[in-house]
Amino acid sequence: MSKQTDYNVVAATKYVANGKRNAMTMDIERIFGENTFGLEEMKSRLPKSVFQSILATIEKGDPIDSNIADTVAIAMKEWAVERGVSHFTHWFQPLTGSTAEKHDSFITPNKGGGAVAQFSGKDLIQGEPDASSFPSGGLRATFEARGYTAWDPTSPAFVIENQNGSYLAIPTAFASWTGEALDHKIPLLRSMQAVDKAARRVLKLFGVKGVHRVMSTVGNEQEYFLVDEEYFYRRPDLINTGRTLFGTKPPKGQELDDHYFGSIPDRVLSCMLETEKELYRLGVPVKTRHNEVAPSQYEIAPIFETSNIAADHQQLTMLTLQRVARKYGLVCLLHEKPFAGVNGSGKHNNWSIATDTGMNLLEPGDTPHDNAQFLFFCAAVLLAVHRHQDLLRAAVASAGNDHRLGANEAPPAIMSVFLGEQLEDVFNQIVKGSTKSSKQGGLLGLGVPALPHLPRHAGDRNRTSPFAFTGNKFEFRAVGSSQTVSMPNVILNVIVAEALDHMAAQLEKKLSGKKKNKQTFDSAVASVISGVIKEAKPIIFEGDNYSEEWHKEAEKRGLLNLRTTVDAFATLVEKKNIGLFEKYEVLNKTEVHSRYETWLEQYATTLNIEAETTLTMARTMIMPAAVDYLNELADTLASASSAGLKLAGVQKMAKSVGGLVDKLHEGIGKLEKAAAHIGGDDALAHAKYMRDKVLPAMAAVRDAADELEKIVPHDTWPLPTYTEILFVK
Ligand code: ADP
Ligand code: MG
Repeated sequence: MSKQTDYNVVAATKYVANGKRNAMTMDIERIFGENTFGLEEMKSRLPKSVFQSILATIEKGDPIDSNIADTVAIAMKEWAVERGVSHFTHWFQPLTGSTAEKHDSFITPNKGGGAVAQFSGKDLIQGEPDASSFPSGGLRATFEARGYTAWDPTSPAFVIENQNGSYLAIPTAFASWTGEALDHKIPLLRSMQAVDKAARRVLKLFGVKGVHRVMSTVGNEQEYFLVDEEYFYRRPDLINTGRTLFGTKPPKGQELDDHYFGSIPDRVLSCMLETEKELYRLGVPVKTRHNEVAPSQYEIAPIFETSNIAADHQQLTMLTLQRVARKYGLVCLLHEKPFAGVNGSGKHNNWSIATDTGMNLLEPGDTPHDNAQFLFFCAAVLLAVHRHQDLLRAAVASAGNDHRLGANEAPPAIMSVFLGEQLEDVFNQIVKGSTKSSKQGGLLGLGVPALPHLPRHAGDRNRTSPFAFTGNKFEFRAVGSSQTVSMPNVILNVIVAEALDHMAAQLEKKLSGKKKNKQTFDSAVASVISGVIKEAKPIIFEGDNYSEEWHKEAEKRGLLNLRTTVDAFATLVEKKNIGLFEKYEVLNKTEVHSRYETWLEQYATTLNIEAETTLTMARTMIMPAAVDYLNELADTLASASSAGLKLAGVQKMAKSVGGLVDKLHEGIGKLEKAAAHIGGDDALAHAKYMRDKVLPAMAAVRDAADELEKIVPHDTWPLPTYTEILFVK
């Protein structure tokens, strides 16, 4: 029996449904949030005044009163200890994009030689992880070597369970001692404040009363692959880089579209159910699951929440998907492009803004006045996207996402907005008729009839658009599957805040001095919207974003096409962008530079790991297999010739294997040479070098190897094939 068959048998039979039904434990009402120290738990455990103080912080954004920290800490510890918790950690989000934790035990020895569990307000509020190994893009050199973590009371602490014990995780921000943000959470919180302030300025002009806070809301659809761990372990590329660096297209791919929304295989469903159960217990409101387009690809989506909580929960979702998968002999791949020639994974970022009174500002209303307000906010988003295409593109840039954006499965690197026919038409009418409107005064007062009720998810949803209006929210589709959603939402919040301020200022100007009757207000609103749409019009596109014509058309319209991560990151430090971040106090110049440096370095490092892995696999796995086969053919020819046979076919085969071995050898040599250099001392030069010299050299090695995979005997080929990885479930 061949090696491959052995593995197939192991993989396919490894999962044995145990026959016991655990379904009864999925009592959603009982388990939801049971592993979080949320509001209910706090209310029942804290003195009333302390609870009120915490509530004011969580709901109104009041600063945390440090005097209550000890009381909260004791209650939190008691709650945790009841759940078998022995350790706690500040849980934070450094610039790597993943989460970080360092566990400390509650243990405090006492005099009698015993020990008690202790946890103080100080432990809760502030921690000091050794920050020196986290990327800071030069921030630490300029400032302090150490960073500190600070409790975020707006995001509930939670318990992570293991069969041998549990620990308490406390969501925290991570900053330098001089106050620079070293993480993803701080800018997100700051950007939420920016959009809050700007949106309230607009609402005031519209005469909306009783709103104390406006919050950005986010719901992320997460795509991922589940593959059998046997195959994962046998692929150094998957282990090291999260994607396959070799592999020919399988005879059957996704062409039949038989996987999308298909029935979910048993083992996978079991895994999903446990994942969802764990997420419920952590208070993550996951809602939807289905098969995605590619074989072995799936999606999970929650009900939306405020950005900060959604971002924390998104991280928990990725962690839980990966942890639970292992229990089922599966590995969850979050990489944007694990398999060439097969669809990659994204993470649609559904975004809106809502008031604390429950009004979704991107939902068309029922009255003309509400509609005018909706159109105003909607126009602000258009303006924001048009003015800041570069930042949106940078927000989704990564080495992984470069394989996906523009690859005819995900939106191209060109930003544009899909509005849907109806809404686009309404805006067009405003542009045409705004001057008339004050005369007519009628209906919407904006020169258009009252907005027809826009169905959520109108039938013509454009799947190729990077940024689509979907009835009551915008869906940013270019986000990569493995990335933190913080940065995309920081950018969305800050650019929309700026657009709202810009429009509010115009409206204020038009209204100032005038007697504010309904007519002047309506015509002022119409003229602001009209001006904005005229400016932002080039960003609106309803057609096929994958088409060649669109690329030409977009160029004519003057839209940016930042093809690669390097092009996109380079724009971060442009003066206008630093100015924007500084104006809204989301990032200062140093913080922007630190991100620029860190992310370029991360890009280069990712490619370097890929290059080294390519080399190792090519030299130690693929080349030996190819040479073995060549040897076998040569032996056959030698014995054939001594028997007086010619075997022309075998001769040809030996020739083509020999040719490919040479090609592979040459490719390896070139890649070795390219990877031996870094191409400059600054981060940008280094990243460019990796993109322009190393990446193509890797591709050449892969080409030769993938050709060999097609002809080298299956039982000699050292790597599991795409067919096995994608179709054994
Ligand atoms: P799709 O057809 O794109 O999968 P869904 O209705 O399933 O659409 O919604 C996708 C995501 O959008 C969900 O996570 C949902 O919670 C989120 N969403 C819905 N309304 C809002 C909103 N107002 N703000 C942010 N996200 C939202
Ligand atoms: Mg979807």
